Amino acid sequence: MLLDVNNVSIGFADTKPMQMVVNNISFQVDQGEILGIVGESGSGKSMTALSIMGLHKDTARITSGEIRVEGNNLLSMSENQKRSYLGKEIAMVFQEPMTSLNPVMKIGDQVSEMLAIHTRLSRKEQKEKTLEALFEVGLNNPEELYNKYPHELSGGMRQRVMIAMAMICKPKILIADEPTTALDVSVQAQILALLKKMNKEHGVSIILISHDLGVIRTMCERTIVMSQGKIVEQGLVEDIFRNPKQEYTKKLIDAVP
Ligand code: ADP
Ligand code: MG
Repeated sequence: MLLDVNNVSIGFADTKPMQMVVNNISFQVDQGEILGIVGESGSGKSMTALSIMGLHKDTARITSGEIRVEGNNLLSMSENQKRSYLGKEIAMVFQEPMTSLNPVMKIGDQVSEMLAIHTRLSRKEQKEKTLEALFEVGLNNPEELYNKYPHELSGGMRQRVMIAMAMICKPKILIADEPTTALDVSVQAQILALLKKMNKEHGVSIILISHDLGVIRTMCERTIVMSQGKIVEQGLVEDIFRNPKQEYTKKLIDAVP
């Protein structure tokens, strides 16, 4: 087992009583798997992902539980340990790639900055690795792209850049939070195929978050289903389709196009 989320609850400290948004959730991610997290909007998927990354808002509190990566509890790490873990061992891509990229920094510089933070490569080596990483995610003109700014790219290209940034330090876990939701339908399948390639060829374990059970079905063997901050079902996707245990899950199935 690679990631073990054990009895985690998350609430917002600025309301009294504390407003809980995630309640006692537990799940595991195995080496090399793509685990789905599916649920309607507001069910707590992003809060769960952000907490694993330590990226939740200041006002959010993880009030109980443990999050272990290869046995190391992320919640009891020092800031230094966390810095070397997050982005390197666990990386994340978000729904809207434009807001995750710096609009006034060249694409190449943004990707190689990851290497500057997490490795001791020389500038020349950083550039080489960056060009390789851009090519690897299907951006076929990396030299040209290196000097472009985010606004000069399409949404799909920007998401490819985000995946290159997330993958460049060879993380063990990639959390993809609604990675295709903001993209044109024609591009969505390409990005999902790219994530699958990263999983197959680089062995990265993926947590794929989506409100769309159809997306989860094409990508994952196993999924958890979240509703109102709780896990209401988990298991093999095909079993859930065949025999949903909750009305809520049936609705998610009915919503699959
Ligand atoms: P999802 O990603 O599944 O759509 P989220 O994890 O973003 O859901 O949100 C879970 C819940 O947390 C929602 O009900 C949302 O209203 C609530 N929430 C998000 N941000 C805040 C905040 N800053 N203060 C209080 N509640 C919040
Ligand atoms: Mg979300």
